[in-house]
Amino acid sequence: KILYPIERPQVTSDLSENIILTTVDDLYNWARLSSLWPLMFGTACCFIEFAAMIGSRFDFDRFGLVPRSSPRQADLIITAGTITMKYAPTLIRLYDQMPEPKYVMAMGACTITGGMFSVDSPTAVRGVDKLIPVDVYIPGCPPRPEAIMDAIVKLRKKIANDSMQERGRTLPTHRYHTVKHK
Ligand code: SF4
Repeated sequence: KILYPIERPQVTSDLSENIILTTVDDLYNWARLSSLWPLMFGTACCFIEFAAMIGSRFDFDRFGLVPRSSPRQADLIITAGTITMKYAPTLIRLYDQMPEPKYVMAMGACTITGGMFSVDSPTAVRGVDKLIPVDVYIPGCPPRPEAIMDAIVKLRKKIANDSMQERGRTLPTHRYHTVKHK
C-alpha cells in the first residue's frame, strides 16, 4: 500500500489576510457546514444511537446532514462502534476514499479508547485516532443522540473557523504500525 500525507497548496503569508480570500473562506465554510454528508458507518452497538439520529424524532437532516453509502460522496465519518485490528485497514481505506475536506467524529468509549475491550482484548484498536485524525470525540457507552447533535454543533463551529490556506491534515504516521495484517 502506498500512503502519503495529503498536501494542499499553500497561500503565501502576505496574502493570508486578503479580503477576497477571507470572504471566500466564509462562503466556502458556510456551504460546507450546512451540508455535511456522513458516511453510513457503524461497527457495533453505538450505531443504534447514530441510526436514531436519522429518524424523525431527532431529525438530523435539519443540520443538512444527508447519510451517504459511498465514501466518495461523504465528507464526514462517525466511527460508531468498536474498531478491531482486522477491520482497521478497511476503515483507513474508507477514509482515504473520502474527498477533502473531510472530518471524523469518534463516537463511544470503544472507538475512543478501546472501551471495555481495552483491558485484555488482543483485537481491539485502542483509539481510532491512531488510524485516522479525529476532529470531535463523543464520549459515552453509548452516547445518546443529543450528544451526537452537540458534537455536530461543535464540528460546525470548527468548520466555520477553517481557513483554506491552513487546512491540511497530518495523518498519524504510525497508523499502519499499529495494525497487524493477516
Ligand atoms: Fe457498544 Fe458501548 Fe462500545 Fe458503543 S461504546 S460500541 S455502546 S460497548
